Order: sequence, then structure tokens, then C-alpha cells
Amino acid sequence: MAITLDAQLLEILACPSPDHAPLRPGTPADADAEALTCTECGRVYPVRDGIPVLLLDEAVVDGAPGQGDATGDPDDSHADSA
Ligand SMILES: [Zn+2]
Repeated sequence: MAITLDAQLLEILACPSPDHAPLRPGTPADADAEALTCTECGRVYPVRDGIPVLLLDEAVVDGAPGQGDATGDPDDSHADSA
């Protein structure tokens, strides 16, 4: 079942990571998934009861199933652009 997010809402939503990139509905693997995927870093955010959960702690890095990076180094997000 595809998520039904308002296009206008999608427009103002942005990835909470430093890239602040726009989000796309679905995941790369499943366009109908109830999730939002960052167009920049590829993090996948769950959508619960129609509400996007835009938390880095909740994000899943697509392509690495079962390997949540929550326990890894949290400082791996290309922070050398300061
Ligand atoms: Zn991002």
C-alpha cells in the first residue's frame, strides 16, 4: 500500500541529516513502501500512521539490512565541509 502524503508536505519535509535533502516516497527497493528515502544520503525513514518519522535514530540506511548503523560511529556523515 503506497503512502499518501500530501505533495505540499513532501515539499517541506527534509532529511534531518546535515544534507537536508528532499525526500522521496517509498524506498529504492519498494516504491510502495511506507517510508521516505532521502535523495542525498539514502537513509530510509519509516512512516507510521501516515506520519513520517524523521529521526536519524529511526532511519535505516538502505542496502544494509540487519546492519543498523545506530551502534556505529555516528560521525560518518561527511562532516568535513565546515
Ligand atoms: Zn539525507
